[in-house]
Amino acid sequence: MNYAYQINKINSLVEHYINESDFVDSELLSSKTTEFKKSAYHLFYELIKLKNPHIFQEPNHVHELFSLIKGSTAKKNIELKVLEHVEHWWLEWYFALEMDEKLSIEKSDMPMSYLPQSTLNPMRKHEISHYARLFTVLPMPVCNVCAKTGDILKVNQRFVDVFGYTVEDVPNLKSWWEKAYPDPQYRALVKDLWQDSLEKALNNNNDIPANNYRVSCRDGSQVMMEISGIDIGEEFLAVFNDATERLEAEDILRDMAFLDALTKIANRRRFDEKLTHEYEQSKECEGMLSMIIIDIDHFKQFNDRYGHVAGDTCLYDVAQTIASTVSRPEDFVARYGGEEFVVLLPQTDRQGALFIAEQIQKAVENLAIAHQDSFTGFLSISMGINTISDYTNSDEISFVKAADNALYYAKKQGRNCIALSSE
Ligand code: GH3
Ligand code: MG
Ligand code: MG
Repeated sequence: MNYAYQINKINSLVEHYINESDFVDSELLSSKTTEFKKSAYHLFYELIKLKNPHIFQEPNHVHELFSLIKGSTAKKNIELKVLEHVEHWWLEWYFALEMDEKLSIEKSDMPMSYLPQSTLNPMRKHEISHYARLFTVLPMPVCNVCAKTGDILKVNQRFVDVFGYTVEDVPNLKSWWEKAYPDPQYRALVKDLWQDSLEKALNNNNDIPANNYRVSCRDGSQVMMEISGIDIGEEFLAVFNDATERLEAEDILRDMAFLDALTKIANRRRFDEKLTHEYEQSKECEGMLSMIIIDIDHFKQFNDRYGHVAGDTCLYDVAQTIASTVSRPEDFVARYGGEEFVVLLPQTDRQGALFIAEQIQKAVENLAIAHQDSFTGFLSISMGINTISDYTNSDEISFVKAADNALYYAKKQGRNCIALSSE
């Protein structure tokens, strides 16, 4: 094939740009939108697309053309470098054109000339072809939705791999809601949240903000997904990010912030929060609130005799024993500090609190931890109880203080006993 015309055209394009006085080659070649690149594209369009409609049957056409150009006359280094770039662009555009051509033929089964004008716009077709490729290879699930009808137009392979649904399973948003969120209550919540996000996006002329959703897959498993949407005119692209690991990590961090590392029950910080909450609630409904402060007897001597490691194990065992003795979901157990624990009992009177304290005492006795410096020969605990029902002239601090005073009294009585605060 004689490429003389094309060689001349490309040579003069390259020469023109090299001769430009303010020519900075690296910037010109690396930037995506230079005038030079646009001119190169126009030439590609003119020479390949218009002048040579049979290009698609000649896969090495661009390579061949450029090797001829490079060998046509003695070339300077800079010229060769620029030509390499132009060749690279052409190969890319050629690939896009070729793919696009194949796709259009498959789709319409008609010769190019019968295709609507809009699809003949080469720049647009180029973009579409890139977009189609990008869509397919994206490593996260994505789906393309018609904003007006809610029809799901396309899902990528990752979408099918993760959720198990194809477009046939979920042809529109309605069927997606039903399959991905089978529980009607949760579905209603999700729809509200999504609607909210859509409105935000509309009002701020922005993309659909990300939220976490628990999605049910075809095989019945569930995944936590952070779903957002990218507005692309009459369509939007729903993008799914697997949030399972991130949310689990957040849970672990939250637990770590509120969990005592040694005893694995709630820590003092959590107790302070819980106390404020329960105290306010009980005060509001003028209900009763009880608390028990528990302190291990002669624990310093325990450590001295058996060592700190045994001391730590003992603290863990006692904490877990208290936690498993207090069983109502609204009750709360925490490590208050050192060898002290606290139990918060909402809607519980003094008798109820005393009953729980006795249960705890028995459970610790049953552990039968040897303690030679204790007069029973076993590890024991002392407890102070306070109950509040009249909130006038009282606050959280005085509530705790009264329980602490009762504990002090129990210690004074000889330990291994329970004391109630004076009413
Ligand atoms: P009392 O009967 O009056 O409560 O005497 P006690 O020895 O239990 O009380 P004291 O307050 O004198 O000592 C508490 C001891 O608890 C001191 C410390 O060695 C021990 N302790 C506090 N926290 C830990 C811990 O995390 N691990 C271990 N092994 N021991 C601890
Ligand atoms: Mg103590
Ligand atoms: Mg003690």
